[in-house]
Formats: sequence, structure tokens, C-alpha cells
Amino acid sequence: GFNCGIVGLPNVGKSTLFNAVTRTANAQAANYPFCTIEPNVGRVAVPDERLDKINGIINAKKVIPTFMEFVDIAGLVKGASRGEGLGNQFLGHIRQVDAIVHVVRCFEDSNITHVDGSTDPARDVDTINTELVYCDFETVNKSIEKMARLLKNNDKKILVANECAQRLKAHLELLKPARSFQTLNEDEDSYLQSLHLITRKQVLYAANVNENELSDNGNSSKHVKALREIAEKEGSKVVVVSARLEEELGQLEAEDAKLYMDDLKISEPGLDRLIKTGYSLLGLMTYFTAGVQEVRAWTIPKECKAPQAAGVIHTDFEKGFICAEVYAYDDLVRLGSEAKVKEAGLYRKEGRDYVCKDGDIMNFLFNV
Ligand code: GDP
Repeated sequence: GFNCGIVGLPNVGKSTLFNAVTRTANAQAANYPFCTIEPNVGRVAVPDERLDKINGIINAKKVIPTFMEFVDIAGLVKGASRGEGLGNQFLGHIRQVDAIVHVVRCFEDSNITHVDGSTDPARDVDTINTELVYCDFETVNKSIEKMARLLKNNDKKILVANECAQRLKAHLELLKPARSFQTLNEDEDSYLQSLHLITRKQVLYAANVNENELSDNGNSSKHVKALREIAEKEGSKVVVVSARLEEELGQLEAEDAKLYMDDLKISEPGLDRLIKTGYSLLGLMTYFTAGVQEVRAWTIPKECKAPQAAGVIHTDFEKGFICAEVYAYDDLVRLGSEAKVKEAGLYRKEGRDYVCKDGDIMNFLFNV
């Protein structure tokens, strides 16, 4: 499944948010297996009302949502890229995630120590992002060293990669994230992908505010404002949450939680919003498989081509990909059955270059 690493400085509310996300998702989706894979990894169902609509037509034995994993990556501090604290180990974890939720402390509370003494989103974001860029710089450097020995072979692929690596190194040296680095062609893209750079991953900033700052979506908070400005420059997004409130809500009975939310003038808990917004902001979409055994949702990145979509189910599906049979969720619901979709000529065969759309219902044909 798709996973998000939760990063941020110590004491900004990462664990609180992580616990709230995983516990609430568990409670809301009681019929779905929630599991804590490791103490710091939680899987949550992505809410999607289309699943039940599809199953109303298909009547499968099982309905399975798509999941998102959240990984609580603690231990990121100043100097982590140089191995300070438990630095390197944690940076290794971040490399493996698909996207990053960067929790930024926007709340003021003199009882909760801040590692740098005060609430200052700009400084905090800079501290974390600098560590991450350093880390990528190391990765690129190692790659350049490895390639140096191979350059004399005049292998075109290596030459292209090396040229790209040199430009990237200069880019990172300016403390710019790899995200804003421009590749020139597909060979460079695939080289870059092979590096699993941290600062190339999509980031969603979670502005952690006190409960009384939620009702106007953080608009009255100068810290949220500062964070939004940073995010806008980077082309990233901000979701305003209150980790502590979410934690408290999770411990209340539904009725009491509702009363408490009314009190704070909040219409919906922040976590659904975080999961849903996160899902779309991180450039993800959903396709479905729908057979008599199961109706199931799968997560893919936008612009995903059919073979890669197949690969989400099983790598063999991608390797042996022949074609995809595709129809649209909207057509199924509008026409009422798969047979009617076929009659209408809307059940298509698509090849390797097909770019999937959100809500596609797909069946893959593949060689084993
Ligand atoms: P982490 O080190 O980033 O994982 O931070 P924790 O989740 O352990 O939180 C550190 C402390 O901050 C805990 O005592 C939390 O209860 C508190 N905290 C978390 N979110 C908020 C918030 O929105 N407002 C306030 N005042 N305290 C919070």
C-alpha cells in the first residue's frame, strides 16, 4: 500500500497525531482489519463511498478498501544527516516512504518544551528540510563516486546519469530540495527514481494548532500563516489539525465528542480530512477491481499507466502485462450493470500506454 512518513522535530505532536489517526480510523472502520504492523506503523482505510455503490451492483463476497500506512518517524533532529541522535537509522526509514507528512508545531504552550525554545514554523521547517537535503546530497555523492569508475566505458546510460547527478548535486548544494530540480528527459527521470531521494517526495504540511484555533481553519494564527507562505512557495499544501484535540476526541463516546466539537465550532473531525486531503494532495487516485469474489479499491499515483497500476496488485501482473479491460465507475452506476456497460460499448481494452483515471474499474490480462 501507499505510505506516508510522519516527520517533524521532537515535541511537535507527531506521536499524538499518529496515535489519533490510527485509533480513530480503527474505530470508524470497525469492519475493516486495522493493524499496527510495527509499533510505529499504522494502516488506515481510505474512506470511499464508491466501494459500496459498486458492490450494490456486483454483489461480491468481500469489499476491501484501499489503505494508507502512516509511519511515525521519530528522531529527526538537527544534525541527523551527520548521524546525530538516531539520525541515520531514521533517515533510512524516510527513504522508504512514498510521501511525507511534515508536522509543524503551530501551537504555543509553555508547558511543552520546544527543542529550539519557541514556536517558529519557518525555522523548524528549515531545520528539517536542511537535514533532508543534506541526506540526499550524500546519496547523490555516493552515486557519483560509484559511477566514476564506469565513465571510461562510455556507456550512454551512465554518461546521462552522471551528467544529471552533477547538476543535481549543484542544486542540492544551494539547499534546494530535489523536488524543484528539473530533469531533461526520461533517462534522467528513471535515474532520479533509482536514487529514492527524500526531498523529491511529495510533502503535506500538517499545522498542529491548539483546539481553539481550529474553527477558522487556523486563519487567526500567525504561525499557520507563516507555514502557509512557506508551503505556497514550494508548491506544497497545508492541512490544519489539532493532534491533541483528535486524541481527546478519540477517547470520548460519540455523543460527548459531538458536544465537544459543537463547543469548539468544528463540523468534522480533522482526521478524515487529513486522510482524504492527504490522499488527493499527494497526487493519489483510486481504481477498482470488481469481481464476484471481491470489490476492491487500489491506490495509484496520478498519471499512472496501466502496467504500473497492475503492478500494485502484484509485480507479476506488471511484468507479464498484456492489456487491461477498463470501464468507468460513473458508467457502471449510471447504466446499472457490467453487461449494460458492454452493450453501450464502454467496456474497452487498453494497452501499455493507457493512463489510468480515478474511478476506473479494471481487469488485467497478463502472461505468467
Ligand atoms: P512528538 O515528539 O513530535 O511525537 O510529540 P508528541 O506527540 O509526543 O507531543 C509532545 C507533547 O505535545 C505532548 O505532551 C502532547 O500532548 C503535546 N501536544 C501535541 N499536540 C498539541 C497541541 O495541539 N497543543 C498542545 N498544547 N499540546 C500538544
